[in-house]
Amino acid sequence: MHEPAARSPVHITMHPNDNVAIVANDGGLPAGTRFPSGLTLHESIPQGHKLALIDLPAGAAVVRYNVTIGRAARAIAAGCWVHESLLEMPVARSLEGLPIATVAPPATEPLQGYTFEGYRNRDGTVGTRNILAITTTVQCVSGVVEHAVKRIKAELLPQYPNVDDVIGLEHTYGCGVAIDAPDAVIPIRTLRNISLNPNFGNEVMVVSLGCEKLPPARLLPPGTFALMDERGRAQARTGPDVVCLQDAAHVGFMSMIDSIMATARTHLQRLDARRRETVPASHLVVGVQCGGSDAFSGVTANPAVGFCTDLLVRAGATVMFSENTEVRDGIDQLTARAANPAIAAAMIGEMAWYDAYLKRGRADRSANTTPGNKQGGLSNIVEKAMGSIIKSGTAPISGVLSPGEKLRDRNITGGLVYAATPASDFICGTLQIAAGMTLHVFTTGRGTPYGLAEVPVIKVATRSELARRWHDLMDLNAGRIADGDATVEQIGWELFRLMLDVASGRKKTWAEHWKLHNSLVLFNPAPVT
Ligand code: CA
Repeated sequence: MHEPAARSPVHITMHPNDNVAIVANDGGLPAGTRFPSGLTLHESIPQGHKLALIDLPAGAAVVRYNVTIGRAARAIAAGCWVHESLLEMPVARSLEGLPIATVAPPATEPLQGYTFEGYRNRDGTVGTRNILAITTTVQCVSGVVEHAVKRIKAELLPQYPNVDDVIGLEHTYGCGVAIDAPDAVIPIRTLRNISLNPNFGNEVMVVSLGCEKLPPARLLPPGTFALMDERGRAQARTGPDVVCLQDAAHVGFMSMIDSIMATARTHLQRLDARRRETVPASHLVVGVQCGGSDAFSGVTANPAVGFCTDLLVRAGATVMFSENTEVRDGIDQLTARAANPAIAAAMIGEMAWYDAYLKRGRADRSANTTPGNKQGGLSNIVEKAMGSIIKSGTAPISGVLSPGEKLRDRNITGGLVYAATPASDFICGTLQIAAGMTLHVFTTGRGTPYGLAEVPVIKVATRSELARRWHDLMDLNAGRIADGDATVEQIGWELFRLMLDVASGRKKTWAEHWKLHNSLVLFNPAPVT
C-alpha cells in the first residue's frame, strides 16, 4: 500500500441539505486552512470531526445525512468545530405514526451466474466451512471440553483433512439461571440454533454435566433437528449424541475425555466425507456488523457494504443487519422500506421491546456511543445510527428475526432481513451465528481485531491510515473512497468478489489466518438466581 502524498484540504458532505461536513485529511486540519470553496477553518479540527458549513444560530438543527443529529447548544460560526459538547441530542422518535411500507422497491435486475464452493447440508442449508462443533449445556463442562478439543486437534483432526476445525461452543449459561422466566427463551434458543449453524454440517454432539437446569433434552428436544444416516435416511433415535460427565460409567477424568473423543470421531468421519460443491450465490447467508466505528464508517465502509448488500440480495442471498440501538433513530426509514405492513409491525415490535429493556435498566439508546466513537468524530447515537444503517443498502426489508431465532424458523431463504440484536459486537455476532450466518462482514474505523471461530469474518477498514497500520488484520480498505482512489461501487464489488472467495475457502481472512476468536456471548435478558 502506498503512502499518500500530502493532500489538499478535503471535507466530506453526505447530502446537499447538510449544514456540517467532516474533515477527511489524515491528522486533521489546522486553524486557518482554506478550502477550495473559500471556507476557512477558525480552529484546528481532527480527522473525522465536523465543521460548520454555514453560521448556525443557537438552537439551530445540525444536519448530517439529511437528518437532524442535534441542536446547536450555542451559536457556531461557519468554519468552527461542531464538537459533541455543542450538540444537544434529540429525543428518540416515537414508534407511533411511522411510515409503513411506503417506499417502492428499487427497480433492480436479478444478478445471475455467481456461485461459490460450499458444503451442502442435509437440511438444505449450505456451509462455508466444515467444522465439528461440540455443544455444551452448561459452563461447568468447559474446562473438560477445552482439554478434549486440544487432544482432538492434535490426535484426530490430522486424520480428517477435509474438516476445517474442531471447536467447543463455550458459554456461561445453563446453571444458576431462572430457566422458566419468559425471557429465558432467548438464551435457550440461541444455544440451540448455534449448534444447528450450517457451518457445522448438521453434526450435533453435546457435552452435558448432568445436574444443570438446561439438560440436553431441553436444549435440543425431539424434532429440533433430523438425525440422518449416511444415506440420508431418518434414524430412529431422536436425541443428539450426548456425553454426560456425571454418568456413572465415567470413572476418572480420562474416561470423560475418551468418551468425548470417541463420539467426536464418528462425527469427524462423516464431516470428512463431505466435499465442496458449486452452488449459486443465493445460498450465502451474510451477517453485517460494525464496531469501533468512526465518522468515516458512514462515509466509506458502510456505504460499500450497503452496495454489496444490494448485490447479494439481487443474487438471491440472505443478508442480515442488526444492532437495535444503531437503527432506532432511523426506524422511520426502515418501516418505510418494509416489504409489507406485517414486516413493519415486527420491526416496531422489536424496537418497542428493546426500548422497554433499556428502560428497565434505567438506560436508553444514548448509552451506545463509546469514547472511541466520539474521538473518531461521532457525536452521538443519532449520527452513529445514520452511518450504521447504510449497511442495509436499499432493498426492501423482507424478514425480521427476534433475538436467537434462526432464519429457517421463519422460512426465510433470501432477501434483506433485520435480525434484532444488541449492538455489542460479540452478542450481535453470536445471535447472527444462531440465525444461520455463514459469512460475517465487519466494518471498523477505530480498529478491532474481532474474529469468530464459527464463521469467517471479513474486516473492512473505514480509513486508509488504519488499513496501513493494521495491514495484516484488515481484509479490505474502504478508506480509498475518502482518498478519492475508488468509488463506493468499486469497493462494493470488490467486497462481493472477496466474499465469494472467502465463502469458497479459496481465501482466508486475516482473523482466520491468525486464529483470532472472540468468545460467544449470549444475550440473556432473564434473571439469574
Ligand atoms: Ca457492533
